[in-house]
Amino acid sequence: MDDIVIVGSGHAGFQLASALRQQGRDGRIVLIGDEPHLPYQRPPLSKDYLKGPMLPEDLRFWSEKQFSDKAIERVAGVRVTAIDRRDGAVVLSDGSRVGFGHLVLATGTRNRVLSLPGSDLDGILGLRTVDDAAAIRAGLEEAQSVVVIGGGFIGLEIAATVALSGRPVTVVETTGRVMGRAVCEAVSRHHERVLAALGVAFRFHAGVTRCLGDDGHVRAVELADGDVLAADLIIVGIGVLPNDDLAAAAGLAVDDGVLVDAGLATADPRIFAIGDCARHPSLHATAPVRIESVQNAADQARLVAARLAGKPTEPYGAVPWFWSHQGDLKLQIAGLAHGADETVLRGAPEDGAFSAFRYRAGRLVAVESVGRPADHMVARRLVGGGIALSPAEAADEGFDLKAHAMRPQPA
Ligand code: ADP
Repeated sequence: MDDIVIVGSGHAGFQLASALRQQGRDGRIVLIGDEPHLPYQRPPLSKDYLKGPMLPEDLRFWSEKQFSDKAIERVAGVRVTAIDRRDGAVVLSDGSRVGFGHLVLATGTRNRVLSLPGSDLDGILGLRTVDDAAAIRAGLEEAQSVVVIGGGFIGLEIAATVALSGRPVTVVETTGRVMGRAVCEAVSRHHERVLAALGVAFRFHAGVTRCLGDDGHVRAVELADGDVLAADLIIVGIGVLPNDDLAAAAGLAVDDGVLVDAGLATADPRIFAIGDCARHPSLHATAPVRIESVQNAADQARLVAARLAGKPTEPYGAVPWFWSHQGDLKLQIAGLAHGADETVLRGAPEDGAFSAFRYRAGRLVAVESVGRPADHMVARRLVGGGIALSPAEAADEGFDLKAHAMRPQPA
């Protein structure tokens, strides 16, 4: 018996189930997820979904019928509590067991939570699931003033939506700039300027010390410098943690994510990990990486599907790419900028559209494009193909990037 059990029904888990059938894999496939809903797309949750009037159904990948037509069994609203490697089975929170020949962990991440005096008051919300988004949407209908804690992608996407709805909103960020984990200084500053013009206020180098409320509902946050900001809705977007505890408890190696090889397998050849929960070797980084993106989830799902369908595969090497829409700002990133030591701009931030080319030891490793989708598409090719491009060429708007990327490269 080679039943395939997939733990986690987010983007990676769903794509894997669907790709397995697409690649002609027969046999039993069981997709287990702790959310009660049919698998759905998460990216719109922090963007269009908050504005309404989208319905949860609008986000679904497939209907119930499509799952049954493809003979993909769904177990929803139930958690996997343990992996029994000896007997080849997972144990579910309802006490039942599902046997596997191969097991794929697509368990994703969970939100880091605030743990401060008052952080359990009503009106303090995080965003991960469609239910979370519904709660935020409902909160926004009533809210007079909003504070967003954390100036990462999620925080800024939500802050832009709030500002566009005409409500005061302040982003509180520990570090000195937004999206500092992901982008260069020029891109951070540009987003700050544009979002400030929309009405978003920023507090940098700021820590929240406590949340204040009455009748069990939040009314304000107090910052470390003593300032108090009124807020009857607080959105917390302070990053995520990988769900790697099941793997760890089963004796598999974890290190801020489930450790896998370039074929996305753990040390147990029956068990794989894909998507946001997996830490994998990458051609695009100097050390194994864990990547939180839809692209990574989908590409890793396709690779494992091919392996389990008995097809030959290459080591995982897809070029990472990301996007974030904040109001009218359209940010696209190709590659990983970890360890970048040189950055040049193509185009000018003052013109509202530009790209930042990031280099590590002379090699182009990432390109961050704001409102320049054509640069982004070329960047995927340049970074993915390891095509040499000097900083001077990148910065020269007269240099034809596309032609350069299409030119046959020396072997
Ligand atoms: P996401 O992609 O989920 O938005 P990121 O890790 O990109 O997550 O962004 C989270 C942001 O939150 C980072 O800029 C980080 O500096 C900031 N942050 C983390 N903890 C706090 C905190 N306690 N208060 C304010 N900002 C925080």
